[in-house]
Amino acid sequence: MTAEKKKITRKKIMATKEMKQIMADHYYELDSAVKSRDKKVAWCSSVGPAEILRSLGFYVYFPENHSAMLGASRMATDLIPYANAIGYSPEVCSYLTADVGAYLKKVTPLSKAYEGIKSIPRPDVVVFNTNQCRDVQDWMGFYAREFKVPLIGIHTHRGVNEVTETHVQSVAQQMKEMIAYLEKISGNTFDMNELKKVLSLSRECSDLWKEVLDTASNIPSPLTFFDGTIQMAPAVCLRGTQIAVDYYKLLLKELKDRIKNHEGAVDGERFRLYWDGMPIWGRLRAHSELFASQRACIVASTYCNSWIFTGFNISYPFKSMAMAYTELFIVRADEAKEKYLKEMIDFFKIDGVIYHDCKTCPNNTNSRYGMPQRLEEETGIPSLVINGDLNDLRCLSDEQFITNVEAFTEQLEVKKE
Ligand code: SF4
Repeated sequence: MTAEKKKITRKKIMATKEMKQIMADHYYELDSAVKSRDKKVAWCSSVGPAEILRSLGFYVYFPENHSAMLGASRMATDLIPYANAIGYSPEVCSYLTADVGAYLKKVTPLSKAYEGIKSIPRPDVVVFNTNQCRDVQDWMGFYAREFKVPLIGIHTHRGVNEVTETHVQSVAQQMKEMIAYLEKISGNTFDMNELKKVLSLSRECSDLWKEVLDTASNIPSPLTFFDGTIQMAPAVCLRGTQIAVDYYKLLLKELKDRIKNHEGAVDGERFRLYWDGMPIWGRLRAHSELFASQRACIVASTYCNSWIFTGFNISYPFKSMAMAYTELFIVRADEAKEKYLKEMIDFFKIDGVIYHDCKTCPNNTNSRYGMPQRLEEETGIPSLVINGDLNDLRCLSDEQFITNVEAFTEQLEVKKE
């Protein structure tokens, strides 16, 4: 993809070097836990009950982070057909199909990134929460059968407008009921003080991550959505640890310095955009350069915001975890989502909204039931719907993407004049 006509300099975030190191440590720790059998490994869906697992002494592995790596390294598209061949439709989540395909072909981007790691870490248990979609249940179910380990799930209400006491009680109860099974697998006894300690670190991580993302409300914005998709890794994989907290303090300091120096992530920032839906992992760099060439900064996204859990409260751990994991954008009805998006449009001073109609993730696609039209009418902020996919690059036309984005920024320019 050759989007830019003029030279685009992408501004590097210096803290990323540190992040790469802590992510390497995370994967080496998992690898050595499996090799030495000294710690149990739990696999967990990305907005699953990581805090409970960590408090019971599990090392936690997130298959979604692995599949995003498959996407970003552009291995995913070639691996998806292997999962299709054993019955997983090309229409279902391409995180699932790419990851299962990689497993069947015995390849992993971890081997390339981290010398000495030969495979993904074998689980002792796999855990999911259907708050984001049913696909995580099927995905984790595949591995539970393959590795012959227990599969434990939380079943969350979806399409929720207001989160009520009934929703919260149901999820909190399911979380409590997991404990006895997890104690047996981990060999450790549940300790409420340990859960509170982990939950408090998760909350601190979430607050700092929110502060990081909120820096983009400044003009010019010190970071882009594309930076966010990289910087979110510790919030996903290491929430509940001091390591993630320390990292976001470091990152926040760098972004605050940028704000002080009026240094924008995009040179000559002219348009401020919002991205709704999944990233297109195999095109992060190309898209980042394309938008920068249009002097457009994608300042915020529902995707990166999904790891903000302001509901966590150590005074009532289970109830607050149930609340935080059910309040998430992806769990909610369009009415609640639209209210949230209007707040984001105001807060981040948005000129235009981009909706990614993601072929294999209807769960994180919000353009199919009239939302862009309704919001445009209410806010007067133009929007663009683009077709693509998170991991399957066959669902994306690069030429059409460029044409659409260029036409959209022209439309925004006219509106500004
Ligand atoms: S939310 Fe979408 S991308 Fe994520 S696991 Fe579910 S279907 Fe896949």
